[in-house]
Amino acid sequence: MAEYDYDLFVIGAGSGGVRAARLAAMTGARVAVAEEYRVGGTCVVRGCVPKKFMVYASEFAREFETAKGYGWSTGDVSFDWPKFLASKDQEIARLSGIYTSNLMKAGADLLLGTARFMDPHTLEVKGREETRKVTAAKVLIATGGRPVRPPEVEGIEHVITSEEAFHLPQLPKSLVIVGGGYIAVEFAGIFHGLGVDVTLVYRGPNLLRGFDEDVRAHMADELHKRGLKVALACQHERIEKRDDGMLVSHLSEGRQLVSDHVMFATGREPHVKDLGLDKAGVKLNDKGAVAVDDYSRTNVEHIWAVGDVTDRMPLTPVAIREGQAFAESVFYDRPTRFDHADVPTAVFSQPPVGCVGLTEAQARHRFGPVDIYLTKFRPMKETFVGGEERMLMKLVVDRASDKVVGCHIVGHDGPEIIQLAAIAVKAGLTKAQWDATCALHPTVAEELVTLREKYVPMELSAAE
Ligand code: FAD
Ligand code: NDP
Repeated sequence: MAEYDYDLFVIGAGSGGVRAARLAAMTGARVAVAEEYRVGGTCVVRGCVPKKFMVYASEFAREFETAKGYGWSTGDVSFDWPKFLASKDQEIARLSGIYTSNLMKAGADLLLGTARFMDPHTLEVKGREETRKVTAAKVLIATGGRPVRPPEVEGIEHVITSEEAFHLPQLPKSLVIVGGGYIAVEFAGIFHGLGVDVTLVYRGPNLLRGFDEDVRAHMADELHKRGLKVALACQHERIEKRDDGMLVSHLSEGRQLVSDHVMFATGREPHVKDLGLDKAGVKLNDKGAVAVDDYSRTNVEHIWAVGDVTDRMPLTPVAIREGQAFAESVFYDRPTRFDHADVPTAVFSQPPVGCVGLTEAQARHRFGPVDIYLTKFRPMKETFVGGEERMLMKLVVDRASDKVVGCHIVGHDGPEIIQLAAIAVKAGLTKAQWDATCALHPTVAEELVTLREKYVPMELSAAE
């Protein structure tokens, strides 16, 4: 008889856990996956996928206006939030079902319930109807993350996070969104596009900290042009719920905002609470994430962790690749590390942002002299209707090697373009090689291979 019930026990059926479990089970290993909410995890159920549907829904508002400039009569248009939510939920259920059947087809067991360690090889899975105890030779922690609500803000119990924003019974008339990162900027664009009176409240001087400075400045201009209200250098002191159900945000410097909802998008924390990690002896790092090495190994020999719970790079494709690298290393005897360099990323704001590689500041810090190629232009789809929106494209080139080490785009299709630009950046192609690529006309992306003049910012050229 086998010493353990399973060869591998995976906690969490999200992006990382499902990929790892399927690959391991396909070798014939006995694999179980525990899931306490819904199979597919954050990405499928309350992250990337429903968010992207909301972005699509929201973008139509502007498209209808543009269409008029192209000769269309769109008549009266209206948006039905409950109808959209029902279709969105149906599609999410379909996708979650595919994840479940893929796990089954690979031969893994799915245990619905909350798992926690009883000892390093024993887990308890508490389901709705029964609680089971199982043992496993190896364990993978893939429990993801969850939204942070800063506890120090009085009245924080009245706010929603992205999780509730996907299920609001009615489209609010007004919404205050707090934060300046991915989720805040994406949801501000979504609800603004859907006609909600949105105010984005951010504590810093400009949104999207960590992104290239030209991207941040350009985004600020474009959001302003679209009429999104942004309150910078501003923080919540308390939130008051009035008798009529409206929320009053009391902000620094005495400012007040009244809205139907307040949504906090102030980051996510690794989901480690109540996992019993102390019983397994698994250590956390100083960010409260499961500490792992390059092979996703924890300090306990037979326990690994992948995805957001390790807080390395909380993105879906990264969780998937970490899960895959784990399975290849442990079940296919091919030691594999996922390389976190040059991972492309996008903010599905309106306009969207796509980036890969280093920001200008990071490149200067790493390489010293760099050359910058930058263009801002009105895409032809905009000029036709007299639109004011401008795109930004920027290349960061290491002067010594001529390699393009960063590519940054703000504007329509930016994320789609960046996915392909990422191949060139990851491959270490030089600016000369980008230039040798023939343009494809008429596209916005052709700008990336026709940038010939080095960009010198006004303040630098004045100083020279
Ligand atoms: P998850 O997908 O979170 O899966 C973890 C699973 O573990 C969950 O299903 C959870 O219920 C389960 N679980 C937790 N604890 C237990 C337990 N004790 N027992 C049993 N089950 C448990 N990334 C992108 O790349 N692109 C995007 O556009 C994007 N948009 C996003 C939008 C939002 C609003 C959010 C919140 C995130 C977004 N992300 C995006 C990030 C992306 O969703 C995550 O990086 C990704 O889902 C992480 O995968 P994971 O496997 O680590 O964890
Ligand atoms: P981010 O880390 O991107 O942003 C958090 C924001 O909240 C920052 O602007 C931060 O400010 C601010 N903040 C933090 N604490 C406080 C506080 N106490 N009071 C006020 N403001 C605060 O987190 P998100 O929640 O937006 O998203 C979590 C992660 O999910 C992202 O980092 C990303 O990896 C992933 N994600 C990816 C998406 C994509 O790929 N398109 C989309 C959505 C999420 P400051 O900058 O000053 O620290």
